[in-house]
Amino acid sequence: MRAVSPGGIPREPSRQPTDESRESLVTELMPDRESTRRTFLKSAGLSLAGAAIFSRRLHAIDSPALSAPPLDEFGYDQVVLSSERHEAQLEQSVSVLMDLNEDSLLKPMRQMGGQPAGGEDLGGWYVYEPNYDYHTFDAGFAPASTFGQWISALARAYAITKSDQVRQKVLRLNRLYGEAISDGFYEKSRFPAYSYDKLTCGLIDSHRWVGDPDALSILNRTTDAALRHMPERAVEHGQSWRPGTDVSYTWDESYTVPENQFIAYKLGAGERYKELGVRYLNDKFLDQLAAGENDFAGKHAYSHVNSLSSAMQAYLTLGNEKYLRAAKNGFDILLAQSYVTGGWGPDEQLRATGSSDVFASLSSTHASFETPCGSYAHFKLTRYLMRVTRDSRYGDSMERLMYNTVLGAKPLQTDGHAFYYSDYNFAGRKIYSDHRWPCCSGTLPQVAADYRINAYFRDAQGVFVNLYLPSTLRWNQDGAEVSLAQRSSYPLDGAIEFEFKLARPTEMAANFRIPAWAEGASLCIHDKPVKAAVVPGTFASLRRKWRNGDRVQLELPMKMRLEAIDGRNPDIVGLVRGPLVLFPITKSQPTITRQQLLSAKYAGAEKWKVDSAEGRLTLVPFTSIADEQYSTYLKVSG
Ligand SMILES: [Zn+2]
Repeated sequence: MRAVSPGGIPREPSRQPTDESRESLVTELMPDRESTRRTFLKSAGLSLAGAAIFSRRLHAIDSPALSAPPLDEFGYDQVVLSSERHEAQLEQSVSVLMDLNEDSLLKPMRQMGGQPAGGEDLGGWYVYEPNYDYHTFDAGFAPASTFGQWISALARAYAITKSDQVRQKVLRLNRLYGEAISDGFYEKSRFPAYSYDKLTCGLIDSHRWVGDPDALSILNRTTDAALRHMPERAVEHGQSWRPGTDVSYTWDESYTVPENQFIAYKLGAGERYKELGVRYLNDKFLDQLAAGENDFAGKHAYSHVNSLSSAMQAYLTLGNEKYLRAAKNGFDILLAQSYVTGGWGPDEQLRATGSSDVFASLSSTHASFETPCGSYAHFKLTRYLMRVTRDSRYGDSMERLMYNTVLGAKPLQTDGHAFYYSDYNFAGRKIYSDHRWPCCSGTLPQVAADYRINAYFRDAQGVFVNLYLPSTLRWNQDGAEVSLAQRSSYPLDGAIEFEFKLARPTEMAANFRIPAWAEGASLCIHDKPVKAAVVPGTFASLRRKWRNGDRVQLELPMKMRLEAIDGRNPDIVGLVRGPLVLFPITKSQPTITRQQLLSAKYAGAEKWKVDSAEGRLTLVPFTSIADEQYSTYLKVSG
């Protein structure tokens, strides 16, 4: 959602620097699998010089016929993570949600529907404030808009933990929510489509993961009410469609609606969900992307990247390859304007390809990347693209974003303070947003639940290991129970060991993502190098009869490299080691050469040291930064 105004509204004031049922569901969800900057000129102080680039066409896009069906996801309960950092984020954020008072959660919806509404206000964006003035931009901005995301996160948490307490909370909240559905909620909200989309997600997740027998009927009543107050079709961010309302009513995100509509349709919610999916596709935007044009400049970042997942669901549901082309091209455009961390969208805006906006943002803003929401959208998009194309570059992108952005998010606090922006300013700080219960408090627990479904995929022939993080995967391969344990201290160390446990010897393929940066990567079985090709930027495939106790060793050499912010500023670089960006802890720009940076030495405790003209500099991964000032990029000399 937008917490940075395109102009006129004060910014954050104090800011300165083997579950077979799951598998059959996946199959059921893929019925058609066989078919085959207006820029931030004002505040960034930029000129219109880059405008000519806006219409720049990308290189022609190949659209080879996809020969294989999409990879399947595993169920939430099939992957057990043993990475403390990942698990702490899930446990911590879910425990905040579990402690939320249910009357407080329902209060804005009850008030807006004219029903009795007891309980304390949660505060922040969550509350209903009839006299809300968008100039104040805090309490009452988006009443109850995170409710659906929280239901979704709890439903996924239940799928992971099988905690009856979590299940009962989801069932209870859905019942109470069902009683509170009203036209008033949508009529009075600035975000009817956004809220409806998140509620849809929560209800379909309740149906899928919690087995709430009423979820789809509650969804139907939700849809009836919402449709009476939503635009007829997708309306662009910033376009007025409700007479007599101020500009804050134009920040809704109706073009993100189709993804969950298509999923609801495939889960059996009814034909109208397919029709709604089609109706809310942002065809103008997607047509341009599909044609190879960058239609990103000036667009609200999170919601437009999120809308590419709607394009992917349109492709998977309708079989129209145009939508796949749009999503692939959109991802490429996004990649070209991403920071070294994988984050994108300074001041929540996408940029013109080839512009200097992202470089300028290193001095002009601290709102560099809307981290939990942006990551949520990014992971969904890359997960779809990975499944459909089997191209490991999407896994590379997921890994980069995970380790360098959202995994280092500050934890959600019980009073609603949440991590919102990663700060890539030359004078960067990791801070909480001033806003309580913002959009990012809705997506963080969803992201934390989803790490496991990002980590592994499968097809009929075997398994794809996409993310390297300590974990155990369990599934059924051709009738044999298989468990695959992954052990490492990755990403600090590039040595990863896998161990198979099988009820009986089983022929299958184990595919390992070899990151594009991993020059010299090697794979061994029982410490003997394999003959299979191990090529950076591909999956290395080991097909054999696997036996109980078989061990695979993967070695990904962690070389240091420098990545420039853009082609025009080759001296402004981030230091990267394997998948990890190393952030210099510094209050001033040091005098340092490329060679000095590249010679960073590990000093223990997740710290690296380099020499600069001014003395020793410490560098750490994003996950290790607390409150100290850092600079994502340095200017290098020589
Ligand atoms: Zn957000």
